[in-house]
Amino acid sequence: MNLQNPYKSVVLTGDRPTGPLHLGHYIGSLKNRLDLQNSPQSHDMYIMVADTQALTDHFEHPTLVRQYTLELVKDYLAIGIDPEKTTLFIQSQVPELCELTAYFMNLVTVSRLERNPTVKAEIQQKGMQESLPAGFLCYPVSQAADITAFGRLESGTILVPVGEDQLPMIEITNEIVRRFNRLYGPCLQEAKGVLSPTARLMGIDGQHKAGKSLNNAIYLKDSKEVLREKVFQMYTDPGHIHVQDPGKVDGNMIFHYLDAFAPDQEQVRAFKAHYEKGGLGDVVLKKYLFSVLETLLGPIWEKRQTVRDQDAMEVLMHGSKQARQRVQEKMSHVRAAMQLDY
Ligand code: ATP
Ligand code: MG
Repeated sequence: MNLQNPYKSVVLTGDRPTGPLHLGHYIGSLKNRLDLQNSPQSHDMYIMVADTQALTDHFEHPTLVRQYTLELVKDYLAIGIDPEKTTLFIQSQVPELCELTAYFMNLVTVSRLERNPTVKAEIQQKGMQESLPAGFLCYPVSQAADITAFGRLESGTILVPVGEDQLPMIEITNEIVRRFNRLYGPCLQEAKGVLSPTARLMGIDGQHKAGKSLNNAIYLKDSKEVLREKVFQMYTDPGHIHVQDPGKVDGNMIFHYLDAFAPDQEQVRAFKAHYEKGGLGDVVLKKYLFSVLETLLGPIWEKRQTVRDQDAMEVLMHGSKQARQRVQEKMSHVRAAMQLDY
């Protein structure tokens, strides 16, 4: 137990229901969420299905967003997120988050939002340069609202287990929090990113981070056959043509994934030395990586089979009610600070 602070730390994080969860989510954020959830020092933990945010670039596909909302929760339950310990909720079902977003919009400039490196890269990737929806440019502001709405004075900094691409969002969050507190009095708490040692897992193409929108990720719910196919498609070293050729480890996705997921790092070091010297073929390594990932994903596949849609929906509805209550409490302080408490 933390003797300095008898109150539980608040943990808030989320994912966009734009596709199934993948290994990048697992290693970048989900594993830290599980560790926080199961640590002896308990936390006040929330996981949000960010459907409102998903609509900022998927507004033409509401059916997809709705479908993946349920799929996300099934993935959470399959990896071991326990609804008794963690509140799972849907962003759109806590409309006060939109209200807080509206107040925060005044505290950040358009040019500050345009400088966000993650959003800039996403605009490029999605080809939105000519037709950028205002909602998409502003999604970091809604993220700031999602995080701070769960803060509590006694609990201090809010912990946010995320991948590296989300650090600019936490920076903007803290700028907004400081500005709000300066203008309206101390009311909001700052956020701190909790990063994993693999804060950015690359896709199997070796070009970009693994992402749902890029079709380059291994999904937690991929079948054994699809897993095998994806491992065998991985980008390695194009210069390593014959088994006896010396091969490159840097930028080679097999080693990138082995670094992130293999429990026996001694073995990985031996493979690297052998590969660099020559005499070790890609097929041997791919078979090894496949077995490592199959061992990790096997129990998740099994658990997922047992989760019914109806159970996942119940968890979400119950969690959304709890989350809303919590946010309503916070909003009464926010409105009072802003002289909106009529
Ligand atoms: P989209 O392509 O729709 O943006 P995504 O794959 O980036 O989807 P998000 O829902 O945006 O997934 O991200 C959810 C969380 O997972 C965030 O904390 C993000 O930092 C983390 N994350 C996503 N991809 C990776 C990755 N490749 N490596 C590490 N963390 C990741
Ligand atoms: Mg993303």
